[in-house]
Amino acid sequence: MKAYRCRVCGNALYFENSVCVSCGTGLGYSRGEREIVPVDENGVYVDAEGWIWHVCRNLGLSGCTWLAPLAGGQCVSCDLTRTRPNDADAAGLANFPVAERAKRHLVAELDALGFPVVGKNEDPINGLAFDLLSSTAQQVLIAHADGVITIDLAEGDDSHRERVRRQLAEPYRTMLGHFRHEVGHYYEWQLVERSGDDALVARVRDLFGDETADYQESVDRHYAEGPPPAWPSDFISSYATMHPYEDFAETWAHYLHICDTIETSVEYGLVRAADLIGRERFRDLVTEVWVPLSTALNLVNRSMGADDLYPFVIAPHVLDKLDVVASLRP
Ligand SMILES: [Zn+2]
Ligand SMILES: [Zn+2]
Ligand SMILES: [Zn+2]
Repeated sequence: MKAYRCRVCGNALYFENSVCVSCGTGLGYSRGEREIVPVDENGVYVDAEGWIWHVCRNLGLSGCTWLAPLAGGQCVSCDLTRTRPNDADAAGLANFPVAERAKRHLVAELDALGFPVVGKNEDPINGLAFDLLSSTAQQVLIAHADGVITIDLAEGDDSHRERVRRQLAEPYRTMLGHFRHEVGHYYEWQLVERSGDDALVARVRDLFGDETADYQESVDRHYAEGPPPAWPSDFISSYATMHPYEDFAETWAHYLHICDTIETSVEYGLVRAADLIGRERFRDLVTEVWVPLSTALNLVNRSMGADDLYPFVIAPHVLDKLDVVASLRP
């Protein structure tokens, strides 16, 4: 994530800020500029080309800080949400901002990396949409199907998410992680399966396995037998062993974890920008920058008595998989 500063007073800003805590200026995120910009007392920002932007109408509802093209309208990130909890669903609405915040973080990173983010409102077949559902009223399976990503808003509740994480013995479980994983399924569908590139499809199959393997059988086997004992030498997580689709989505999520965390580290001076030069191959970036950085960050967390920031080991075979995912960047 970029380091943002208030254009009025120069104070450091968080991506989620809607007001500068130092000078009180109202703020909005301009997706076109990839910047947090000041808005006037009416919530209006005029960009360099003279276009007029307005604070998203969902600022109060979901904490959305992005700018929208129409007065009283909503932003592009909010447009991606096809279903949200209804106004009577207090539990769902309480967790709704957590999911929307993770989605904005996801979209900002996809923008930075250059991956296309097209909503189903623009392209009903190949576009992307999110159903943010509340499992208080119904059973919700976190999943992707044909461009629709379903998220269980209960995962925004820390105690719930931590309980599930312990049940499944996962080392890491976050709302942002869910969004990154699920969008990995979407991009495999779009950038691999629908690419028309037979060599790419074969390469992905060779590394991740045959994706036509029966999905439900794989799920049943995984939960009955657990992962194969030697999984850490081939997979980034035990969940990735379940099915080739899950392996791809897990690897994709780690690609986004690593890219974002390295960008943040460069922005705040933990990694020198010069250290990235000559490391265009993603595997080199991982072994020479990410591994030492994540080790240091784990130790920083331990200094605070917290769990490791990155509780994963990247095996050589996983580097091959990460390289393929990184090669999909436009
Ligand atoms: Zn300020
Ligand atoms: Zn919005
Ligand atoms: Zn998945």
